[in-house]
Amino acid sequence: MRRFSAFAIAREAFRGYSGWGEQWASPEPKSYYDVVIVGAGGHGLATAYYLAKEHGITNVAVIEKGWLGGGNTGRNTTIIRSNYLYDESAGLYDHAVKLWEGLSQDLNYNVMYSPRGVLMIQHNVHDVQVSKRHIHSNRLNGVDNEWLTPEECKSYCPPLNISKDARFPVVGGALQRRGGTARHDAVAWGYARAASARGVHILQNTTVTGIRRGADGAIRGVETSRGFVGAGKVGVVAAGNTSVVMEMAGVRMPLESFPLQALVSEPVKPCFPCVVMSNTVHAYISQSDKGELVIGAGTDQYPSYSQTGSLHILNHTLDAICEMFPMFRRMRMLRSWGGIVDVTPDRSPILSKTPVAGLYVNCGWGTGGFKATPGSGHVFAHTIARDEPHRLNAAFTLDRFRSGRFIDEAAAAAVAH
Ligand SMILES: Cc1cc2nc3c(=O)[nH]c(=O)nc-3n(C[C@H](O)[C@H](O)[C@H](O)COP(=O)(O)OP(=O)(O)OC[C@H]3O[C@@H](n4cnc5c(N)ncnc54)[C@H](O)[C@@H]3O)c2cc1C
Repeated sequence: MRRFSAFAIAREAFRGYSGWGEQWASPEPKSYYDVVIVGAGGHGLATAYYLAKEHGITNVAVIEKGWLGGGNTGRNTTIIRSNYLYDESAGLYDHAVKLWEGLSQDLNYNVMYSPRGVLMIQHNVHDVQVSKRHIHSNRLNGVDNEWLTPEECKSYCPPLNISKDARFPVVGGALQRRGGTARHDAVAWGYARAASARGVHILQNTTVTGIRRGADGAIRGVETSRGFVGAGKVGVVAAGNTSVVMEMAGVRMPLESFPLQALVSEPVKPCFPCVVMSNTVHAYISQSDKGELVIGAGTDQYPSYSQTGSLHILNHTLDAICEMFPMFRRMRMLRSWGGIVDVTPDRSPILSKTPVAGLYVNCGWGTGGFKATPGSGHVFAHTIARDEPHRLNAAFTLDRFRSGRFIDEAAAAAVAH
């Protein structure tokens, strides 16, 4: 695999970029792998990368029914932050933020991580109480978060309307300066390239149709659209399809799956310097490097596997955007899309062993798993390699829905992000 460097890019510029070659290999499936990962989104590819890099396990396949990043990884609005309420969540999400900071160098691939700050706008007394509780809790956990007055919010994000006449006036905001965005498909491609370079097989257009267990109940491998593939261990990282895939092994998951939507505007010159979210009016927005406003909407209220979503959800979101940023009222929207998110009852993820020997599951990130991609892959690789959780995902078990030890992040995840 050719490394990217200033010298290599300059050299290729002089020879018509003919020397780069393919970024990851597309091998035929082997009959047996030590580990099979189901799902080549960011989390699955990151797991494979860290299995190879940190644990020396390279006989690994990542099996994907579509194309790399065609699931939620390529559909999300890329907001990154770690200002969650509980200690367990702060530990896990901040681990991810720390990995984001050096990820482009680690992968030798520009994931365009941009810590431009995430400002969470508050509109009423209840918002302020919840927000300040988060700020204090975050600080106790060493996670940066600070309170801004309406004027300070306006100075950080000039397009924001802080008029007292607004239907939902801005009464302040919580700012995490280390929060920001990254380029979603570059994350999938960067992990795929780096994993492939270490010997991981990436099998696209290959659907897992069954999970085979032996007489002792342990994992033997997976049935796929290209035949049976034997495996010592299987990690299911299939986001919106987790319940369907886990059912193949006879494991019922505490998940509901909903469509979640986003949309982008026509591109305009740089005018929006940060990320803004509002739980109360329910919208979140940033500007991509192409100039499009990237706007996140909410989930449909009913479970579905349709990757579109309902029109009234988009209408509501645009109402909220125009309320907070009247200058965007005349912008035209270019396209909208949806993804299927799997949601747990306590709005926290599951990164866990399962009752089936050799079967592991990484899911339940709901509307906010992109931000966790590097941290999630890192600790899930540890869990699979050592057959025991990393200390940072020890609390995110499947069993907590039996024991009642929930990690209730409903407030932190109330707005889709
Ligand atoms: C509109 C939208 C906006 C979002 N915004 C944000 C945000 O701003 N910030 C944030 O942190 N998070 C956000 N999220 C959530 C985030 O996208 C997800 O939590 C995260 O991308 C999940 O990554 P993943 O790798 O687990 O899943 P995915 O990228 O969905 O990967 C799972 C893969 O499994 C594959 N698969 C499924 N079944 C099978 C099978 N049987 N065989 C083989 N392969 C299979 C799928 O094709 C898919 O590619 C958003 C989500 C959506 C939909």
